[in-house]
This record gives sequence, C-alpha cells and structure tokens, in this order.
Amino acid sequence: MFNVENIRKDFPILSRKVNGKPLVYFDNAATSQTPQQVIDVIVDYYSNYNANIHRGVHSLSQEATDKYEQARHKIQKHFNAKFAHEIIFTSGTTHSINLVANGFSSILKKGDEIIVSALEHHSNIVPWQMLCERTGAILKVIPMNLDGELIISDYDQLLSNKTKLVFVNHVSNALGTVNPIEYIIKKAHQVGAAVLIDGAQSCPHIKPDVQALDVDFYVASAHKMCGPTGVGMLYGKESWLKKLPPYQGGGEMIAEVTFEKTTYADLPHKFEAGTPNICGGIAFGAAIDYMNSIGFDNISSYEHELLEYATKKLLEIEGLKIYGISKHKTSVISFNLEGIHPYDVGTILDKMGIAVRTGHHCAQPIMDFYKIPGTVRASFSFYNTLEEIDVLANAVKKAQLMLS
Ligand SMILES: *Cc1c(COP(=O)(O)O)cnc(C)c1O
Repeated sequence: MFNVENIRKDFPILSRKVNGKPLVYFDNAATSQTPQQVIDVIVDYYSNYNANIHRGVHSLSQEATDKYEQARHKIQKHFNAKFAHEIIFTSGTTHSINLVANGFSSILKKGDEIIVSALEHHSNIVPWQMLCERTGAILKVIPMNLDGELIISDYDQLLSNKTKLVFVNHVSNALGTVNPIEYIIKKAHQVGAAVLIDGAQSCPHIKPDVQALDVDFYVASAHKMCGPTGVGMLYGKESWLKKLPPYQGGGEMIAEVTFEKTTYADLPHKFEAGTPNICGGIAFGAAIDYMNSIGFDNISSYEHELLEYATKKLLEIEGLKIYGISKHKTSVISFNLEGIHPYDVGTILDKMGIAVRTGHHCAQPIMDFYKIPGTVRASFSFYNTLEEIDVLANAVKKAQLMLS
C-alpha cells in the first residue's frame, strides 16, 4: 500500500528545517532526494569493499566488480534492454548525449539533417549544434504551441530521407509535457533515421520499455530518480553501439595496446574509459530497486493527484499564469505572477522553507517562445504531500502581496 507518511521516513533530509521552517522540497525536476536505503549502499561501499573494478585479482576488487555488474543488470531489467552490454554507465544524461553526438561525427555527411524539438534542455541542443558544425549537417526544430506541446504535423513535414537522427526528450523539464515518443520513433524509422530519447525527466515518473519503444538510444541520470549525482546511463541498441566509435580513450576500453595500433574492448567497456563512478553505479542500481519497491503505477497515480491539486490551488490565485498545460504532463508546474519577476518569488518562497527553481531551466528557447525571462517551477515527487502544496499556495499569495 502507498503510504506517503511512511515513505517520507525513508528520506532523512525531509525532516530538516530551512530558514527556521520545515523544508518543502519542490525542486525534484532539478534533482531528487535520496532515501536511506540508497545512502546505506553508498556508506557500505566505502566502508566495506571500496576497490577498483575489472582488473584486480583480489577479493575486494572482485566484490566491487560483481556489485557494479549486478547494478548494470538491474538497469537492463528495469529498462527491458535485450542485453546487459547495451547499458553503458556514464556520468549522466549530458555525458550520454555527448557520447552519441560524438559517435555520429564519423557517420553524418554534409547536408544530412538532424531533428530536435523546441522543448529541449540545453544539453539536448548544444551537442547537436556542435555536431552540425563538425559535419556540415543541418539542425531542424519541431515547433511547439502555446499549450507547451510539440506540433506533430510539422514534424511529419520535417522528416525526409535526409533525416539521419531525431532527438527529443520524453518529458520536458521546463513544462512537464510528455511527448508522443512512440509516434516520433515510428515515423523516424520509416525514413531510416535513428532516434535518441532523453529520459532524464521521464524516468523519475514512469518505467520505459526500450524494446517495446524500439528506440535506438535512451538516456537518463541517476540523481533525478533517487540516486546519487555524477552517474547515469546510455541505452543503445547493440547494432548501433557496435557501429559508433569510442568516445574517450584510456584504460578499461581497450583490448590490446601497442604504439602502432590499439584495438578496442567489447561492449560495454568500449565506451567506459577510465575508472568509473563505481559507488555511484552500485547506488544507481539501489535507487532503481527502491523506486520499484514503491511501484511506478503508485508513483504516477499519486503524483498525478498532486499535480491536479496544485494546479487547482495555484489557479485560484489571481494573476497567476501556468505555462505548459498539456493534458499529458508529469508533476511539474511552471508559473509566473503577473508583473513580478520569478526570481523575487523564488527568494521569498525560500525564506519560507520552500525550494523551487526559478529561471530559464536550461531551456531558453521555450522562455523566448513565451517572451518571458523565466518561470517559477514547482516539481513534485511521490514523497511530497497535499499539505505541502497548501503551504506553497499560501506562500505564493504572501509573496504576491509583498511584491506588488
Ligand atoms: C536534467 C536534464 C538533463 C541533464 O541531466 P544531467 O544529469 O545534468 O546531465 C538533460 N535533459 C533533461 C530533460 C533534463 O531534465
């Protein structure tokens, strides 16, 4: 049974105070909090079996290697990848995207086209711009509408046999819109293009099945799904991962090295140069276990309740506007108070113990589209409560009085 009060006991940070007030943590889309079950795994690693992996004959190295590879299997199972070696450990979503973008440098030719969406995070725009500069490929953008949804008929128009790659996030971090990725993937494949889906904002809420989606690449960060910072994953279809060249050179990723020629290790090690974030990878596995123990059905239905309640409460405030009103949304609300800068609202909320994000949310093109400098973004997780949303709504009203 889903019981939020019990769940909250798993998160030590939720009982602290900020500026003398109980913490209300509504910045989950930037990073999630860490349950004791994951903290324990991190402490256990450094207390009991910290060692470098894959190259030691000694017991600690074996133990660490086993746990690290078990974590890879957990991630494989969670995403329903066909093979464990299709899961590459990275330092996070940004690293995963750069790895793929770099790999396509040797595949794309001048005049080839890459399609991205207007709803992207900067980390899903800049690597492609850099790739276009290197290869002479052309970047095309699927536009968005005022509700914060992609205009899919325009996507159909952009696709052609010149399209080689399509990159879209599963869920927008700035607005919470869930994009129709099944359709996007199917259509891209019809013209022979590969698809990378940025799952940084979807994985905290839903459990993607990469085989059912038939997606070519899927990426995520542990720290947005109850895991630590500095670790993430790239799923790639085996055929693609074999085709792409290595990203970084170094230890771990080689089969044989001479000064004349180096041959590369098999997957997944070909893409894992150097000592990885061993503890982080193991803790990522523990975070996935933790979230599955709560259950993604429970998580998404409870978070939907939080979203509906917060939307209703906030819209009761006169002069408050919500950006991104798609019917398909995760628990993110981006809003502004008329005539008041989002930064000022965020500062006052912080004084009341409420953590929200203000600014452009690494998605400046979306802010330009709405002609605003930024928004206040409250993003909810399964450990938040309806009472906390009341606290937010009252605090926003207070901020409005103080600032107008
Ligand atoms: C957070 C985020 C990223 C970047 O993730 P990092 O963990 O900072 O690498 C990319 N895309 C989206 C949609 C995000 O929300």
